[in-house]
Amino acid sequence: MAIRLVVLGSGSGGNATCIEGGGARILLDAGFSSRELSARLSAVGIEPHRLDAVLITHEHADHIRGAELFSGRHRVPIYCTSETFRAAGWDGERARAHVRVQADVPFEIGGMSITAFPVPHDAMHTVGFALECDGARVGYATDLGHCGGAVREGLRGCDLLVLEANHDVEMLRAGPYPEVVKQRVLGRFGHLDNETAADLAREVATDATRLVVLAHLSRTNNRPDLAVRAARLGFEAAGRRAPAIHPAGQSAPSPWFEV
Ligand SMILES: [Zn+2]
Ligand SMILES: [Zn+2]
Repeated sequence: MAIRLVVLGSGSGGNATCIEGGGARILLDAGFSSRELSARLSAVGIEPHRLDAVLITHEHADHIRGAELFSGRHRVPIYCTSETFRAAGWDGERARAHVRVQADVPFEIGGMSITAFPVPHDAMHTVGFALECDGARVGYATDLGHCGGAVREGLRGCDLLVLEANHDVEMLRAGPYPEVVKQRVLGRFGHLDNETAADLAREVATDATRLVVLAHLSRTNNRPDLAVRAARLGFEAAGRRAPAIHPAGQSAPSPWFEV
């Protein structure tokens, strides 16, 4: 095992994932309250102060809700772009030393090599992450409206992919959201639907890809079985064997996954 990962929770109610490898232990997004983050980490056997970094994709509340308090309380530095740091309105002192992340400039935390890549979404500067350690590669991209070349490049050839599958287009169109919100979600800087996520997964996955974790599922406009079926059909329609596919939930952590 080179890398192991657990999704602590994912969806518009909060996103956080813990990833370990090469002696590093990293929280990817901190979209629950500090207290809830600590509780979920404890539930999967991690003591909050043993984290080395909190890595942030963008400033929307469902990704940063507890970040500043958690960082200060447990003395864990926040890593994000300077645009995200400013947009989040954080205080440099309280949020510990802010470590600047730049898209396409690799950096290391312990034995983990990390590269951020730009993602099309309606925040100041959203990024996804590719994390590598001992020959294993994990890709993480939630909150994206479409899949440009940078996204496909960032996610290519991963052993494990964490990918947004936000909504079923028909459920969203027929659902209760106001029209303006529907258009935002469907737009090129909104969120990824099941079919587009399936196409992206098939396109970037290689024979080395063992697992796709579907994340940020809408509780109103999606169902786990629909998201998983779309992803599986995407592979099968192309005559390929699908990797394992796991839908991440909002209310409780996933199992630990290892690659
Ligand atoms: Zn967002
Ligand atoms: Zn989000």
